[in-house]
Amino acid sequence: MNKIELSAYFRKLVVGANTKVPLSNGESINEINFDNAATTPPFLSVMRQIKDFAPWYSSIHRGTGYKSQLSSDLYEQGRDIIKKFVHADQTRDVVIYTKNTTESINILAYGLSQDSNKPIILSTEMEHLANDLPWRDKFQVEYVGVDEDGKLSLWDLENKLLKYAGQVKLVTVTGASNVTGYINPITRITRMAHQYGAQILIDGAQLVPHAPIDMKPYDSMEHIDYLAFSAHKMYAPFGIGVLIGHKKTFEQGEPIYKGGGAVRLVSHQFIEWDNPPGKDEAGTPNVIGVMALLAAIETLQAIGMHVIHDYETHLINYAIDGLKSIPNIKLYCHSGKNEKRVSLISFTVEGLHSNRVAEILSCEAGIAVRNGLFCAHPYVEKLLKLSTEDLVYLHHHHEVPLPGLVRISLGLYNNCHEIDRLLELLEKIVKNNKQYKEKYKSMK
Ligand code: PMP
Repeated sequence: MNKIELSAYFRKLVVGANTKVPLSNGESINEINFDNAATTPPFLSVMRQIKDFAPWYSSIHRGTGYKSQLSSDLYEQGRDIIKKFVHADQTRDVVIYTKNTTESINILAYGLSQDSNKPIILSTEMEHLANDLPWRDKFQVEYVGVDEDGKLSLWDLENKLLKYAGQVKLVTVTGASNVTGYINPITRITRMAHQYGAQILIDGAQLVPHAPIDMKPYDSMEHIDYLAFSAHKMYAPFGIGVLIGHKKTFEQGEPIYKGGGAVRLVSHQFIEWDNPPGKDEAGTPNVIGVMALLAAIETLQAIGMHVIHDYETHLINYAIDGLKSIPNIKLYCHSGKNEKRVSLISFTVEGLHSNRVAEILSCEAGIAVRNGLFCAHPYVEKLLKLSTEDLVYLHHHHEVPLPGLVRISLGLYNNCHEIDRLLELLEKIVKNNKQYKEKYKSMK
């Protein structure tokens, strides 16, 4: 299929791609969703799967009824399907079902914190808060730096691995940034971490939905020890996420959540925790969420992650070219064609607060974007060159709107016509900056 045929085909895969939304002038228009990095609409295949499975849905693991056994089997078999999708080890790795990436990383951080050996975590300056805050209260966290364009410094990574040799438990890094879209060189980073005796976690929230990922065999220096991702960013928004990693790690210590389902036998004298993954899945599991994720994986695999990545690269490069041609728009990344990236980009419009730009796009053209600090505060603060004094001021003045960027993030069902509509309006906004400012002056 050529790009036009692919585009038409992808468009039909998701629910609600042509939903009309109201504009400020009272008219209605097809919404353009450029906020896929936050969450994606469901695939039709996901909705079908949920509908087909619903009559069979039942409590899993301890039920003896036919439906219960069927539900349990599908839930358990799902772990193998997920492992295949990311090339995890079928026997040595375990797939733990979670709510989302945030919960996955919190579970891992809690688990690893119970072993006092090696007290340092190497995170980076470009992380989402989900891959920063869970580590802070449990470890000494050191942050690998980024350059002026926000690119991760491998030089600094190596320096820190050298400096803290023998003390780094884990290098934890995002597969792709939710601010700049950069895809990090995870094979190189993994090799470096292993060379210095550290394990590695890849935050796959932005990478897994958009590009192939391979956890590689255990005997490879490029083996990824832990991987986390969220189904709601990959067309299955039904409250499920995944943490994959060494079964051995999760055999040790206590689980973060304690309750039914996480144990084998309990008395008032002792608690015998279940084996992983059950140990880390206390409470009634989200079976429907798992079915949704499996259906999404099936659809993504049928298309091919390479095909998706190529198509989305074409889309984002088209958007970048257009944005670069508009004066007074500043992109916050290195935007060369050879840059490895997922399909998102952040920018500002000179003289207009990001809140206002986002509101105008929605009110004037039904375009949904995200703006602000994107839960990657230190990274965006650095890109915006905010000083410590600036941050302390903002910390103490809640009446001042927080600075931020505007982000467009594309899914496989977006197309160049939608990007054109965005570019046309941005051109108008830049040309008539004052009028738009006046029209939307009441906005926060
Ligand atoms: N990491 C990255 C890079 C993200 O973009 C996000 C979501 N914006 C998360 C982690 C957290 O994902 P979730 O909200 O699904 O837990």
